[in-house]
Amino acid sequence: MSRLLARFFGVTSQHAAARTAVLPRRIRVVTRVVSTSHGLQSLTRYNETTDWQKKLSPEEYVVTREKGTELPFSGIYVNHYEEGMYHCVCCDAPLFSSEAKFDAGTGWPAFKEAHGTWGRDESHASIFRRPDNSLGSPGTEVLCKNCDAHLGHVFDDGPDPTGERFCINSVALKFKPRENNNLENNGQN
Ligand SMILES: [Zn+2]
Repeated sequence: MSRLLARFFGVTSQHAAARTAVLPRRIRVVTRVVSTSHGLQSLTRYNETTDWQKKLSPEEYVVTREKGTELPFSGIYVNHYEEGMYHCVCCDAPLFSSEAKFDAGTGWPAFKEAHGTWGRDESHASIFRRPDNSLGSPGTEVLCKNCDAHLGHVFDDGPDPTGERFCINSVALKFKPRENNNLENNGQN
């Protein structure tokens, strides 16, 4: 019996030693996955110490960091229908796909839904909504989930199936054509 126990403990401690030996490598692997994974986790979370005035043009700064609005029909993406992704001009998070873009005739880029939306679920999208009464009536502001950039507003007069219209400032966006996206992803991997 004592020999069996000794053998049992011997095996157990061997396993424990093996686990200890493996552990540092596992930790390294997990750390690597978090720091290089796609989407939001790979992006730097900007905070109040980020010097946006240095990083952005004056127009980009006023719109995204001071909740400004570009003049209607002034933005470069109003009548832009190339295939690709519209990213946050501040932090590069992918915000809206060209497939969701439509012509609302209002003078600002319009989208039916945010990239990553599943039905009404926006938990995987890079945007979030916040109540905003600055337009003179109860409204909803749209911001970048990663860096809090002001992007525009969302209204309930959009086309089916969402019935929503994301009215987004061109200067808050940075368009990347689909081919360039693929090249960039390959380069990062
Ligand atoms: Zn952002």
